[in-house]
Amino acid sequence: MPLSPAVDFRAIYDAFHSPTTPIDCGLMCAPHNPHGIPFCCDICSAVPVAYQSEWQYLRKNTDLWHVWRGDECAGEDNNRKQLMAQTPPHLRLLACKGSTECQRDFRAVSCRQFPFFPYLTSDYRLIGMTYDWEFTAKCWVISNLAAVTADYRREFFNTFDHIFSTWLEDMDSYIELSVETREHYAAKHRRIPLLHRNSGAYLISPLSERMVRVSVNAFKPFHPYANSHSQDTAQSTHNARVENIRLSGYD
Ligand code: SF4
Ligand code: SF4
Repeated sequence: MPLSPAVDFRAIYDAFHSPTTPIDCGLMCAPHNPHGIPFCCDICSAVPVAYQSEWQYLRKNTDLWHVWRGDECAGEDNNRKQLMAQTPPHLRLLACKGSTECQRDFRAVSCRQFPFFPYLTSDYRLIGMTYDWEFTAKCWVISNLAAVTADYRREFFNTFDHIFSTWLEDMDSYIELSVETREHYAAKHRRIPLLHRNSGAYLISPLSERMVRVSVNAFKPFHPYANSHSQDTAQSTHNARVENIRLSGYD
């Protein structure tokens, strides 16, 4: 597998820096994590990934990251071989120093995009973002999609438009993940929740790919965030999970 061509990661990071929501969502999810830290920064919940060339940039510019060893989650077994086998060759599993020592300027793209990933149609159009279903019971953002800012959404799509124009293998990974997403939701008899790049929110039939525009407030919050949800949830129409390759959960 050829390595990715030279990419200016400083430029990518500078153009994808807006917070996902106006409030620090880590303060919302950390109280629900027995480890007391945001789930997406907890190596026991998720292993971050970086593009191979992104890792080369990070290793030269910060001491925040190291290559994932598999022993960072103290006291827990992990399926290291399986996780490594599942990781596409253009990506590298990493671990950081942890949330108390995070260097915001050197967060990986996988940190910035979490809990979302690009969704592509069966004719390969990047039409929107959907979320990692493995984190519905952990990530506060997934239960509060209305709080995701317009700036974040714009930067997300600009970033992946750029990445996909550079790395076809990464686009291929998300094409495969989008196929898996349709299969997953089809098996659940649910529609796929989508934040569209046109600023709207949609539910997509996983079989016909027919799209129905909905209020972003209509998406159902998940336990344990349902009770504290500030939005009208009466119209909720989905309850499903999406698997993400960007942060690979192993619990
Ligand atoms: S993105 Fe989700 S899991 Fe990560 S800090 Fe925010 S609420 Fe927590
Ligand atoms: S680099 Fe920061 S945002 Fe990314 S996993 Fe580590 S603590 Fe979390």
